Amino acid sequence: MVKYLYLILMLMSAMSCSEGFTTAEREVINAGQGDVMYVLSIAHQSDSVVLRSQSKPLTCQMVSSEEFATLRRRMLATVQSPEHQGVGIAAPQVGILRRVVAVQRFDKADEPFEFFINPEIVEFSDEVAAGGEGCLSVPDIHDDVIRSQRITLRYYDENFEQHEQIIEGFTAVIFQHEIDHLDGKLFIDYLEEK
Ligand SMILES: [Zn+2]
Repeated sequence: MVKYLYLILMLMSAMSCSEGFTTAEREVINAGQGDVMYVLSIAHQSDSVVLRSQSKPLTCQMVSSEEFATLRRRMLATVQSPEHQGVGIAAPQVGILRRVVAVQRFDKADEPFEFFINPEIVEFSDEVAAGGEGCLSVPDIHDDVIRSQRITLRYYDENFEQHEQIIEGFTAVIFQHEIDHLDGKLFIDYLEEK
């Protein structure tokens, strides 16, 4: 029985690894000119439907693909573009409903942007604080959101190896905001709850 279960798990992981980006996803990843991608906005109804959707996990096949390298480069160019100057971006914001975010690590020297694949917050601190937030996909609204000050993050790196890390302060807030995007949640939802 145990052997049988093990075989099923092996098959499942092999299957999830053989699935690459869809044709539609590849088209979005390669669309337009230059590296800066179109950022979806709740101001547009069709964009809003995408921004409110649940994103699917990336497979190891996707992460090792040429398309992922392109998506990574373009998401970075987009969040860092003079027009946006964001501190984080999630794939659904550029029209890809997959679980990957880029976060600026203010908790590290030189404050680099890093990518996190299939990220998951496995623990939120009880200690919370209000801080100002905005979003590249939500024009003209900036407001305070109450967030946990410390999180335990589980994620895959770009070699598809799993890690767990405790993150604190403003960087932890960025992770909470970006990972919400993967579940179709926006910071303005917390304002409505006030
Ligand atoms: Zn956002």
